[in-house]
Amino acid sequence: MDPADIIGPVEGTKVPRFAGASTFARLPRVDEVTDFDVAILGAPFDGGVSYRPGARFGPSAVRQASRHLRPAYHPDVDVSPFRVLQAVDAGDVPCNPFDIDEALRQITDHAGELVSDRRRLVTIGGDHTVALAALRAVVGTHGPVAVVHLDAHLDTWDTYFGAERTHGTVFRRAAEEGLLLPDASTHIGIRGPLYDAADLVDDIRFGFSTVRAADFDRLGVAEVVGRVRERAGDAPVYLSVDIDVLDPAFAPGTGTPEIGGFTSRELLSLLRALPGEQVVAADVVEVSPPFDHAEITSLAAATVVYDVIAVMAAAHGDPRH
Ligand code: MN
Ligand code: MN
Repeated sequence: MDPADIIGPVEGTKVPRFAGASTFARLPRVDEVTDFDVAILGAPFDGGVSYRPGARFGPSAVRQASRHLRPAYHPDVDVSPFRVLQAVDAGDVPCNPFDIDEALRQITDHAGELVSDRRRLVTIGGDHTVALAALRAVVGTHGPVAVVHLDAHLDTWDTYFGAERTHGTVFRRAAEEGLLLPDASTHIGIRGPLYDAADLVDDIRFGFSTVRAADFDRLGVAEVVGRVRERAGDAPVYLSVDIDVLDPAFAPGTGTPEIGGFTSRELLSLLRALPGEQVVAADVVEVSPPFDHAEITSLAAATVVYDVIAVMAAAHGDPRH
């Protein structure tokens, strides 16, 4: 898009950040622009959780926390993301709360209308089940993708109480549906006990390599991102951020917390080193506002969304440079 035509967020120097529009970062709504580069879509569904519920309130809480952002210039990425890319808030998918497969279809349909060769998607969950729906839409446009999956959990279990599509089985189903490129994806931040040691063996079949949270201190950001880039090659990348990749100290408001996770600073450093030109879509999931305090978790998620868009924008090229 011509940067002169881009409509940015409502400026915090004109309307205080706690007032005005309730869209993400006070961006325009999708119906207020003629075209866009990045759509932010809420997927308020939590019918796939195995422990604490509440992620259905994630999109509205993350939008509320996003008021705190000063989104004009990102000094760490050196970009003004919303002057480079036309970003819009595409609202929430009206998900059926009583039917997982119907909700997934609804999310895929909405996401599919937004994503294109050029238009990128950032989904705010919702529990992690919604990633399967977003992946289906993205793969419909781009073909199979490499997934960069930040999470305490593998999410490649088979079934849970007989259910096949849950927040813990997303990436096994994605692999079975042919949505993932072979041996191109990476889990980062995995920790906590498993039901069975065989879970780790199964996981490799679905195309993932794993960087455990415990390995992160030894490897560091550059080595971890180097591995991600090597596996993904030049493939389109789908970035999936389960907020429980953060330690509960930094993200208490989530459905399945595990201690020993990343700090917010470590997570942001990782995100900022990702190959932004390849990230065609992303999600931030598992924010459960009823278990949050003082917007700690929703602010983390809002900042993740902002940083991911900044990394996309930096790769797109800032016209000031
Ligand atoms: Mn998780
Ligand atoms: Mn997850």
